[in-house]
Amino acid sequence: MKNLLYINGKWTGEALDKMEVTNPSTGEVLTEVPMGGKKEAEEAADAAHKAFQSWSKKTAGERSELLYRWYELIKENQEEIATVMTKEQGKPYKEALGEVGYANGFIQWYAEEAKRIYGDTIPASHPDKRILVQKQPVGVIAAITPWNFPAAMITRKVGPALAAGCTAVIKPAEQTPLTALLLADLAEQAGIPAGVINVVVGDPKEIGRAWLDDKRVRKLTFTGSTPVGKYLMEGSAKTMKKVSLELGGHAPFIVMDDADVDQAVEGAIQSKFRNAGQTCVCSNRIYVQEGIADEFAQKFAAATANLKVGDGFDEDTVIGPLIDENAMSKVEKHVEDAKEKGAEVLSGGTKVEGGTTFYTPTVISGATSDMLCMNEETFGPLAPIAIFKEAEEAIEEANDTDFGLAAYVFTKDLSRALRISEALDYGIVGVNDGLPSTPQAPFGGMKESGLGREGGYYGIEEYLEIKYTSLKI
Ligand code: ADP
Repeated sequence: MKNLLYINGKWTGEALDKMEVTNPSTGEVLTEVPMGGKKEAEEAADAAHKAFQSWSKKTAGERSELLYRWYELIKENQEEIATVMTKEQGKPYKEALGEVGYANGFIQWYAEEAKRIYGDTIPASHPDKRILVQKQPVGVIAAITPWNFPAAMITRKVGPALAAGCTAVIKPAEQTPLTALLLADLAEQAGIPAGVINVVVGDPKEIGRAWLDDKRVRKLTFTGSTPVGKYLMEGSAKTMKKVSLELGGHAPFIVMDDADVDQAVEGAIQSKFRNAGQTCVCSNRIYVQEGIADEFAQKFAAATANLKVGDGFDEDTVIGPLIDENAMSKVEKHVEDAKEKGAEVLSGGTKVEGGTTFYTPTVISGATSDMLCMNEETFGPLAPIAIFKEAEEAIEEANDTDFGLAAYVFTKDLSRALRISEALDYGIVGVNDGLPSTPQAPFGGMKESGLGREGGYYGIEEYLEIKYTSLKI
């Protein structure tokens, strides 16, 4: 297991203070990693700045080939990456393996997309002039990533950045540095030159501040909580960095009377309980039209009761532990609050005794808009169900939030699906689909869920500047 910082092609930081990386499922200390700070962050930015001079001048084909080699190595080592991920993050091994494939999809996609960074020529207003538009890499980019997708949140940023010709300094979450370091190790093996990718693990405030203050860091890309995102955006203003933010969600899941109930149940299970409910696109609140409310609630609660909670390495585990005690307290608080305000628990509703941070997948009915879970992201395995009469009511409730990342609609009527989708103030809408995320599609939110898009050809634009050359001939 790589457990050092990766700066300028060197594994370093042995002499620094250490922080422990633990397995949330068992509490076992897996290893210790150095606590990088200001100095290491600056060294990483120096290295990335230097490497930018040559990386940005490589041909698209050369960058593409190196990215493709990295993709191949990730594929060859997917079991090892998934194992490290399950150990440090807790998600079931099968799900971890799924994440590695998804994460690698971004490297593959952008290995291809590197060759398609097109510009324009525009007819000029003067016979002697020519208008050329080129796209150029922004420069050094800083990526700050969360613990819930230890691999994908990195590749989704670094894939397009490298393809565009940028170099990267990366700070993974304190909880999950090992997956990030393993990816860096594979990048090194793939022949990605020193300084192009740097990983600094450690004190978030110090590292973040060093990069915010550094003029040479021209872009900040962040996935995490809304308050930290706002802080980083504010801090980026000083040096006018480009910013992409992928922040919190509060996803509504709307089931219309005419939906295929079994399909809706399956979609709700997928969107709600993946990663034990710890994803920003997880359904946070379910609105069911009254005609099928009972049937949906019964079937959903029954399906939920069958989801096995346990250690990620047990074959039949579907739901792993929550990341830590704070995460657990939030779920418990949301469940207690809902119960006090009159909700009925249809399934789950308790912590698993004798474990670390295991919580049973929970379905409650009778959810009302005054409950915490209907107003804040739970980030855990709680599914509150509310009933509505008309679509307008559900749309209004769904939009009545500062967030706008993902929403879901289940209906067999295509016109209704599109009407509702268009009325939802969300960046992503899954229509009869509980798992819309995929490398070639734009992922990102509206309102306080963030800025910019990741994935697809949209995702690479975030790492490019537009150069207009006016040429008089
Ligand atoms: P979560 O609640 O999911 O842990 P955070 O927004 O706290 O969300 O964390 C996401 C990422 O942001 C992590 O890598 C974390 O270390 C980093 N982070 C948290 N606070 C700061 C900060 N003040 N400056 C820079 N990075 C930060």
